Amino acid sequence: MGATINIDKSVNCPECGKPGASIGSDGIPGRCLDCANKYLAGLTTKIGPNVTGKMLAMIANLFTTYENDMDQAYRQADEDPFKISIGLKLEPGDRGIDIEASISFVTGRVKDKTTGTASEAQQNLFKEA
Ligand SMILES: [Zn+2]
Repeated sequence: MGATINIDKSVNCPECGKPGASIGSDGIPGRCLDCANKYLAGLTTKIGPNVTGKMLAMIANLFTTYENDMDQAYRQADEDPFKISIGLKLEPGDRGIDIEASISFVTGRVKDKTTGTASEAQQNLFKEA
């Protein structure tokens, strides 16, 4: 499972041109350690196919997880529009962009009813007749 990176000081980095390219198992010179670090650091702030792909996968996972709940809520909504809210929160993390995906929908209309009685009668006790 381990990967070895060989640094060859006689081969120039294809990115910065300084000696010390990394040589992979294919023998092709790659970034030097400095450039590799910069590249990896860049990955933590860039939104590209990996990040958007991860976001889509997380949303898809939420849809799969809550499919039955959405179905029930949709039926309960009856003729009212059924609204699903999807949220995504991105924050810089130690190893990339930390992603939080959320889903929310109203699980049925509130059809509860409450009754009660109140009066200000107590004030009347102090009123003079
Ligand atoms: Zn370099």
